[in-house]
Amino acid sequence: MKKLTEPEIMAILRAADELIGEGGRNLLAKILKGSKEKKLLALHLDKCPVYGYFHKLSLAEVIEKIDWMIKHDFLEIQYSGRLPMIVFTDRGWELERDQRADEILAEWYQWIEQDDFSHDMTYLKDRNRGMILILLDKIKETGERRFIPLLEKWGEIDYKKVRKEIRATISHIVKNKATESDENWQIIRAELLKGRNPRDVDLKCMKCGNIFPFRTFERYMYFTNQWRYPRLCPECDQENR
Ligand SMILES: [Zn+2]
Repeated sequence: MKKLTEPEIMAILRAADELIGEGGRNLLAKILKGSKEKKLLALHLDKCPVYGYFHKLSLAEVIEKIDWMIKHDFLEIQYSGRLPMIVFTDRGWELERDQRADEILAEWYQWIEQDDFSHDMTYLKDRNRGMILILLDKIKETGERRFIPLLEKWGEIDYKKVRKEIRATISHIVKNKATESDENWQIIRAELLKGRNPRDVDLKCMKCGNIFPFRTFERYMYFTNQWRYPRLCPECDQENR
């Protein structure tokens, strides 16, 4: 089977995010096919942004693509009792959590453009902490002060630890302008998208411009600890502390 394109990989990851640990290959394929089955509509899976992404393909063809994703270590099957459920591999989740944070950020932009601050922020509670931290980092990068009312509202309903991060984000926005987006993540992301066994990559220090290696085991350590990937070389990072 032909290698999937990047948009296809990202669409399948996004759809999988709707049912992780709760559904199998067939349900995932039906979201992407845009099935009108009752079960799917009852779970509001037709609201997923990639619902119907593969509407031109047959269900069997969509399943083939999902199997390609499993074979190339973006998704895996775990058994819940006797039922096979789709779950992310670490690599799949690394890609999806970033995409999901972008999606939330895009929605926030829509809200501030419409001057609409009425949204119930509880939808962000109990989300994966790693994704939330990436979202807050992305919000910091924007330097967008109009996000502050949304952040404050969110802070009122979330747990202490997240509240602390939200406050840090607000004070960062108050003090700083927008910063460059993270080019190093784009380098890591491109490597992750290549498939199984991503290799070491060279990153560029955002302060001194030096190139420094970022090894696979380091990436894994950053990922499992939910740290943001390094933007500075070890020397500049040391100086910054
Ligand atoms: Zn440096």
